[in-house]
Order: sequence, then C-alpha cells, then structure tokens
Amino acid sequence: MKTERINGERVKVMSKILIVEDEEAIADLEKDYLELSDFEVTIENTGDKGLETAMAGEFDLVILDLMLPGMDGFEVCRKIREEKNIPIIMVSAKKDDIDKIRGLGLGADDYMTKPFSKTVLVSKIRAIIRRTQQYTTSAPSIPATATCGRFTLRLGAQTVIRGEDEISLSAKEFSLLYYFVEHPETVLTKAELFTNVWKSDVTDDNTILVYIKRLRDKIEENPSKPQHLLTVWGKGYKFVP
Ligand code: CA
Repeated sequence: MKTERINGERVKVMSKILIVEDEEAIADLEKDYLELSDFEVTIENTGDKGLETAMAGEFDLVILDLMLPGMDGFEVCRKIREEKNIPIIMVSAKKDDIDKIRGLGLGADDYMTKPFSKTVLVSKIRAIIRRTQQYTTSAPSIPATATCGRFTLRLGAQTVIRGEDEISLSAKEFSLLYYFVEHPETVLTKAELFTNVWKSDVTDDNTILVYIKRLRDKIEENPSKPQHLLTVWGKGYKFVP
C-alpha cells in the first residue's frame, strides 16, 4: 500500500488497478485476488472502454489482456504509452504472444501467461508499483524547462524545441530524451537507459530500438544520418547537442 501526504500527514492509500479483460470469470478472479491484497480494482471488458478509462483515471497500474473484442491489447498498450507512463502488465493465454509483445517494443512493463497464480500476480504488481514510486519520490523535482545546446525541453507541454521548431513527444519519448539531455556527450548503454527510463531491470532491446527511431524521426534533420542521437557500436547511444 502506498502513502500520500494529506494535510502534512502521511496516510495510507490503496493502489488503483485497472483490469482490461473480456473473460468475465478471469476478470472477477483477478479482482478478488487483488482486493484481498488491498488494491482498489476497476474492470473494463473491451479494449476501447479500457483505453478510455485508463486515459481518464489516475491508475497505478493496468493489467491488459491481449485478445480483446474491438481494439486489441497491442493497440491499447501503444495508445496508452503515447500519453502516459502508467505501468502496464500484458497478459495472454499463449506463450508465443509474449515473445511477440516483446518483439514489438510496445513498452509494457511486464508480461504474464494465463492462468497465473494469485502470488505471482500480486508480487509482480507490488514490485512494479514499488519501482515506480521509488522513482517518483526519489527523483529530484524536474525544472519546467531543460536546455542543452540547440534543444530545449518543456516539461508541461511535453515538447522539445529545436531552433524554431516545437516538437510534440509522447510521455516515454520525452523521458528518454530528457535522460539523454541530462547526460550529454556520454555513452549510455541500453541497460542504463532501461533502468533509468523504463524503470525495469530487464532490458528490452527492441523497445529501445523503436524509441530511438521515433526520437530520431522527430529531432533529427535527416533521421537516416543522425547528428544528435548517435549509435555507439557495441556500446549504446550518445546524445550530442
Ligand atoms: Ca481475451
């Protein structure tokens, strides 16, 4: 259970979990497990509703089924990630799907195959929430803008200004670029980026590749010949402002 400061006092608040699952029996079982472990749970049965609720509410974590009527879990994950850094656990009945999810670099925080035990579910959730909160409480307050060479990052607007252009970034793109801007001219390994930006000990190379490409498409004049986000072969990446 996390704590929050209300009128100067630290009080315990339940972590809020959103379950997006079309099989009602499974959703109800997950809900029971989580409520017994002091989580507050909301269920949505379709991808579209799940996305809408995830965007509208303040959830600590989303448990997202892959096969859903309408918009599937891949799409929901991608769309949430464009806007929010909220942790996502993707679940599927097929082991093969998990490899596919990883391959797509959607930026899910963890994966589970169904059926799963209460212990595994609860411990995964606790670990992810702890990791996220450690970051949010220990991170120094980020200034409204950060400037590095030609680049200025604007936190509130979640944009980067390069010369005359103001470029919109998704939440994760912003966090990644912010990390680079804080460490200019430094070789950063994929593992270091994953630990600090994705808050995960498990480095997902495909996710990094996808996000580096997206950032290059946005901030480089010629994305195929990057001048700012450089690949350091065999080591990682370096930001040159
Ligand atoms: Ca399903």
